[in-house]
Amino acid sequence: MTRVHNLGFPRIGHKRELKKATEAYWSGEIDGAELEARGAQLRERHWRIQQTCGVDLVPVGDFTFYDQMLDMSCTLGAIPPRYDFAGGEVDRDTFFAMARGSKTQPAMEMTKWFDTNYHYIVPEFHEDMEFRLSSERIFAQVKEAQALGVKAKPVLVGPLTYLWLGKEKDLDIAHGEAGHRHDEGCAGHGEAPRHSGFDRLSLLPKVLPVYAEILAKLAAAGVEWVQMDEPALVLDLPQEWLDALDTAYAQLTQGKTPKILLATYFESVADHAARLKALPVAGLHLDLRRTPAQRDVFLQNYPADKILSLGVVDGRNVWRTDLDAALELLAPAHKALGDRLWIAPSCSLMHSPVDLAQETELDDELKSWLAFSVQKLDELSVLARAIDKGESAVAQELEAARKAVASRKSSPRIHNAAVNARLQELGNDDGQRHSPFPARAQAQAARFKLPPFPTTTIGSFPQTPEIRKARLQNRKGELSDAKYHKMMEAEVALVVKEQERLGLDVPVHGEPERNDMVEYFGEQLAGFAFTRHGWVQSYGSRYVKPPLIFGDVSRPHPMTVEWAKYAQSLTSKPMKGMLTGPVTILQWSFVRDDQPRERTALQIALAIRDEVKDLIDAGIGIIQIDEPAYREGLPLKRKDWDKYLGWASRAFRISAQIAPDDVQIHTHMCYSEFNDILPAIAAMDADVITIETSRSQMELLDAFATFNYPNEIGPGVYDIHSPRVPSVEEMVQLMEKAAKVVPAERLWVNPDCGLKTRKWAEVTPALENMVKATQEIRQRL
Ligand code: GLN
Ligand code: ZN
Repeated sequence: MTRVHNLGFPRIGHKRELKKATEAYWSGEIDGAELEARGAQLRERHWRIQQTCGVDLVPVGDFTFYDQMLDMSCTLGAIPPRYDFAGGEVDRDTFFAMARGSKTQPAMEMTKWFDTNYHYIVPEFHEDMEFRLSSERIFAQVKEAQALGVKAKPVLVGPLTYLWLGKEKDLDIAHGEAGHRHDEGCAGHGEAPRHSGFDRLSLLPKVLPVYAEILAKLAAAGVEWVQMDEPALVLDLPQEWLDALDTAYAQLTQGKTPKILLATYFESVADHAARLKALPVAGLHLDLRRTPAQRDVFLQNYPADKILSLGVVDGRNVWRTDLDAALELLAPAHKALGDRLWIAPSCSLMHSPVDLAQETELDDELKSWLAFSVQKLDELSVLARAIDKGESAVAQELEAARKAVASRKSSPRIHNAAVNARLQELGNDDGQRHSPFPARAQAQAARFKLPPFPTTTIGSFPQTPEIRKARLQNRKGELSDAKYHKMMEAEVALVVKEQERLGLDVPVHGEPERNDMVEYFGEQLAGFAFTRHGWVQSYGSRYVKPPLIFGDVSRPHPMTVEWAKYAQSLTSKPMKGMLTGPVTILQWSFVRDDQPRERTALQIALAIRDEVKDLIDAGIGIIQIDEPAYREGLPLKRKDWDKYLGWASRAFRISAQIAPDDVQIHTHMCYSEFNDILPAIAAMDADVITIETSRSQMELLDAFATFNYPNEIGPGVYDIHSPRVPSVEEMVQLMEKAAKVVPAERLWVNPDCGLKTRKWAEVTPALENMVKATQEIRQRL
């Protein structure tokens, strides 16, 4: 019999129960016992769903009140000393303090989980730290599952991956460091690793005994299989780390332990096939959705004592599986392995929405193309039955899938001839502007006559409770469109007036009408759909509901022009139009799997280009195209970087290309790791780039200087992620520092990022100081 297992189920609940429970606990509405009870309820429901779907081995330990890496840190006792953990069992308050900070201590850092939009809490390591089993959580949950008759397969983050994803810290730094950001849009882009003179791999011998202890206890609890997640193996690991894999698993498989299933996902591990096949574990899991070609590499001489789990259903996207294609992929594996073939989603389903059955507002056709977590498990059970009993046993299910696949291939809602003709016409056009930057800079200087060190902001102004309330009422039908529109206009007027008063050189309209920088555009573009309940966890209690890009993208009507025009009518200063770039829209959506990402990005780029053109025709001379997710799109393996950066920078250029020389194109990115992709940032050829630098004290700019970055730069002079109002002197100093490395005539003055999460009481004095600082610097330099 072909075994169906699952790597992880979304923990958030059909109705976001987890978010509600944790937030209620944080606000003191419910106590710890109630929180635990609600957690147990969710776990039971999710286990039952999986049983009903025919999952033989149900993952346990995938549930957490915040993050699975944080859970692992607690299990291993890797608690940074600043939380004053006294030993024993990690208590709930310490756990949440690590996740979110406490009154006295900042939170631990957070960063992206591989190339997903999930963020994990980064383990902190110091040289002489000790690991000790410090949480009974996994054992308690196994017991809970067993009591319910669930065949539990505990899931652990494997030792290599756990260490690889953590960071070395000096103890004094680990004590006094500023907390990470929990803001919208900018969540944890992570900071550059800190070097503390020791290598975290040296901690492996200390952490392994704790893993061994966990495995022994699980064996004693009657657990047959344990899933060890080692996704770090898909990255470019140094040789010592790969070698450490062998020693680690040799050590972990001594004595009485459950069978270990070593799980990899998100990319290929074909390069390590020989090593993995020789590992003394009882099975391997491969992501065949990302790289089907891994199959043959592994099937060749696959050891007879191991099972092979193949991930053939996409755990990270929303599309219904082409079951015929999946069966074809599985056939040779079944032939070679018989019952040693297991099937599963490609990775944990935590990256997929929970249940399509809840989407009552999607039309039937669109719905027939989709599968969320529950449906993906159903698909696996159909595949298993087809393999074991023959396709006739599931003829109906296969036929339904076939029909969905066929309709996706041909539906006019997906395939738009005009869009494809445009792409064709584009051909190999590289997207270069009419003139190179120096000529454009001249034309723009003549047109705008901006002072040296022009001042601007990144786009959004505070999204006040009144704005959010009006939007909610409007969506519920309690506030008419006309009234909502009037309110937003009034907000724009207020924001423009305030910028005039402050004396900002390049004002913005403030983005009050935008719920989110991607959703706002997705809602107006053709080829996008929105779900009601398609939430996935981004971090902790923050979930996102990404748009679905299901078809060819086009722009039926202008999206921002009326707002920009209105804002421009209120001031004689050049109003900066505000758009989200093609790469960011792509990155923060569920994307099509029936064409390369590059092609979808180009389609979005053409839609944005239409908007750029209309803005220009409406008299807007400065246009910012935000690309905060540009770096996020980087592939996991370095060998694939150039290809991605090639099409990503081209997509950006295509969207901006239509601007004549005297139209100034800005872009914005908010993170602090640029060094390795500076050429690709320069290749975007924006006239002005605004970046985050204040928290690195402008150090980031050195890289731009060394690289000789050719265009204008606005290094953020104040950190908008904190409520603190920076002083004039502080900002003067930062700008002086900047002017030492970048020619003064190419510098702008602006905050780090948008101001939407801040309060007016913070924004007004901060911008006042920023303008004063600029006046001072203009005199000094
Ligand atoms: N223009 C957007 C804003 O100001 C940019 C947000 C972002 O970089 N994430 O909010
Ligand atoms: Zn930003």
